[in-house]
Amino acid sequence: MLLLLVSCLPAANYGTEKAASYVTSADVQPKLPALQADEPQAETASVIAPDVVSDAAPDTVSNTVPDTTPDAVPDVPANSLPNAEPSAEFGPDLKQDSSAGDTPFLPLTVDTNPAPPSVITSTYVPILPPKNTGKTSSKVSIPVLNYHSVAIDPGNIVVITPDKLAEQMAYLHDHGYTPLSLETFFRLLEGNTSEKAPEKPVLLTFDDGYLDNYEKAMPILAKYGFPATLFVSPGMTEQDGYLNWEQIKKMQARGWDIQPHGMSHPHLPKLTAEEQAYEIVEARKLIEEHLGTKADVFCYPYGERNKTTLKLLKQHEFRFAFTIDQGFATNEQSPFLLKRLFVNGEEDLQAFVKLLKLK
Ligand SMILES: [Zn+2]
Repeated sequence: MLLLLVSCLPAANYGTEKAASYVTSADVQPKLPALQADEPQAETASVIAPDVVSDAAPDTVSNTVPDTTPDAVPDVPANSLPNAEPSAEFGPDLKQDSSAGDTPFLPLTVDTNPAPPSVITSTYVPILPPKNTGKTSSKVSIPVLNYHSVAIDPGNIVVITPDKLAEQMAYLHDHGYTPLSLETFFRLLEGNTSEKAPEKPVLLTFDDGYLDNYEKAMPILAKYGFPATLFVSPGMTEQDGYLNWEQIKKMQARGWDIQPHGMSHPHLPKLTAEEQAYEIVEARKLIEEHLGTKADVFCYPYGERNKTTLKLLKQHEFRFAFTIDQGFATNEQSPFLLKRLFVNGEEDLQAFVKLLKLK
């Protein structure tokens, strides 16, 4: 089966043709962002050096970055592809986890009687300050699994077989994980809720809007009543291999949250501000018109964004945005730079279990 696959993954060069290319392992080899010669110069001038900087040396720079202003966010091009070596794949958004250094991710805890977090230094500014000023937050860390196509396509790491997905969902079910709706995920992440957090929360996300998400993934998740989030590019709906709006509506009715992924799944940093605005805002508008629900959580195609992207998201009052930077999402990350865990469709259950325990 030749899958029409437009991956979120940054190194998949599929050009602009409608006929999306077959993504091979060669397409998705990790690349160091700073070495990409074709990135727009003006937009990437402030690119922070690749991951080794942030990983090797928890630094003071990251902790001094004011984090409520997208302008201050390091301008990050396509991130490297998550692979089996997570330590090399943490994104270059230095301000996110460097404050914790090598501190392991904690399981979700919502501290109702909090003390000042010990990791906060005098220069550190929490990225998601609690809305209730009387409450300070402890670190909240939730795994967000990132899937794409669900089909049989040997050798393609962004495609997972239905059997493997079923195996993984069974694992989550049997081991006490609680997949969340998007709204519950954000409430827990923000600590802005009195509801009791499940012991093992997880958010399931599917990118691009493939038809097989409806045909294969939805029934598998429905077996356990698991909700999920679908990031769809409305410009690709109704095309061969992709969902149509009727199917999307049915998914929504089965507990799937539908959110924008750009109109045409573009490389956003290569576009002008006007073009980016169209891709971002039009995608949101179409989803809201078709479904009648809010679509203000963005997912960067290929994980790529720049200063302009972040400005636009803020300007148009998006609430959150997901990257493909590898890691748990935490309340210490910028709301526009939430990390996820790429699920490599070629790996076995053991690797999946390890991913869920990524520290
Ligand atoms: Zn995508």
